Amino acid sequence: MRMGRSTIQKLLILCLCASLLGFFMMIMNIGFNCQNGAKTKGNVDGLAKEINDDFKKKMKELEEKEKNINLAAKRLDFLQTTLRRQYPYAVDYISQIIDDDLPTIYAITPTYARHVQKAELTRISQTFLHIKNFHWIVVEDALEKSQLVSHFLEKSGLVYTHLNTKTPEHYQLGENDPSWLKPRGVEQRNLAIDWLLRHVDANKEPGVLYFADDDNTYDLQIFHEMRSTQTVSVWPVGIVGGLKFERPLLNAQGRVYAWYTAWKPERPFAIDMAGFAVNLQLLQQNSQARFDIRVPRGYIESSLLSKIVTMEDLEPKADLCTKVYVWHTRTEKPKMKQEDILLKQGKPSDPNVEV
Ligand code: UDP
Ligand code: MN
Repeated sequence: MRMGRSTIQKLLILCLCASLLGFFMMIMNIGFNCQNGAKTKGNVDGLAKEINDDFKKKMKELEEKEKNINLAAKRLDFLQTTLRRQYPYAVDYISQIIDDDLPTIYAITPTYARHVQKAELTRISQTFLHIKNFHWIVVEDALEKSQLVSHFLEKSGLVYTHLNTKTPEHYQLGENDPSWLKPRGVEQRNLAIDWLLRHVDANKEPGVLYFADDDNTYDLQIFHEMRSTQTVSVWPVGIVGGLKFERPLLNAQGRVYAWYTAWKPERPFAIDMAGFAVNLQLLQQNSQARFDIRVPRGYIESSLLSKIVTMEDLEPKADLCTKVYVWHTRTEKPKMKQEDILLKQGKPSDPNVEV
C-alpha cells in the first residue's frame, strides 16, 4: 500500500501529538507525585504538632489534677485534726472500718424515747464501732426526729441513717401495759426496709440486713457470722422465751428442721428477731416482703421470713447453732420516785442535763 505525502504528514503530526501528550502526562504525573509527597510530609508535620499539643494539654491537666490532690490532701489533714478534736472516735474509726471486699452489714434499730434510751444507744453503738463496713439505720418511733437521737448519731462516729415513723395509735403500748401485749418496732423496721430497697442496689453493693433492737447485747462474733449470709442465716439467742436460750434444731445434714423453743413451737419460724440475718439481694428479689403488724403474738418474724425463704434454705451459723453470741437482754425500767418528789417540791432536776 502506498501512502501519499499528506498521509505521512498526518501520521507524523499524529505521532508528535501522541508523544507530546505522553510527555505532558509524564510531567503531570511527576507534578502530582511531588504534590502528594509534600502533602504526606505536611501530614506528618501536622500530626506531630497535634500529638505534641495534645501531650502538652494532658500534662497541664495532670499538673492541675496533682495540684488539686495536694490541696485536697491538705484540706483532709486539716479536717481530720478538727474532727478528731470534736469527735475523738470518728477519725481513727473511719480509716479502720472500710474494707471494699466485705458486704456491708445494715443493722436496723427501732428506738423510742424513755429514760434509758441514751444508755441503750450508747452501749450498742460502742459495740458497733468495732465492726467493719457497718451501716446503722436508726428508726425513731416518733412523729419527729428527736434532738437527743440526732445529736447522738452525729457524734457516734458511725455510718448511719436516721429515720422516724410513729407506730399507729391502735398498736401503741400504754404506759402500764406489759411489753408483750402489742408488737413493738414493726413499722420502724418496715420503714428501714423501704429505705434500703430505695437507696441500695444489692447487685452492685452486697449487703446483709440485721434487726438489732436497742436493748439486746451483741458479741462482735455475731457480726462475723452473719457477714457471709447468702439467703437467711440463723443462730441461737440467749435469755429469751422464758428459756436460757432458743435455737434452730439441725438434722444430720446440718440443715434446720425445727426449733428449740418452749412457746408456740409450731410457728413457721419460731425465732427471735435477734436470731437471723437476711441477704439484701434476696430481699431485693422479694421486694414486697415486710413484717405484718396484724399477725398473732410471736408471728412477726415468721410474717417476713415465710415470704422470702424456706426452712431448708436457712444457713445455720455459730458453730452449727451451738454458740450464743446475742442475748435478748431487757433493761429494767428505772424508778423515778425521788425525781417526782423533787418536782412536786418545785425543785426539779436541771432539764439542760441530757441523760
Ligand atoms: N420499740 C419501739 N417502740 C415501742 C417499743 C419498743 O420502737 O413502743 C423498739 C425498742 O426500742 C426495741 C424494739 O422496738 O429496739 C423492740 O422493743 P422491746 O425491746 O421493748 O421488745 P422485746 O424485747 O420485749 O421484744
Ligand atoms: Mn428488747
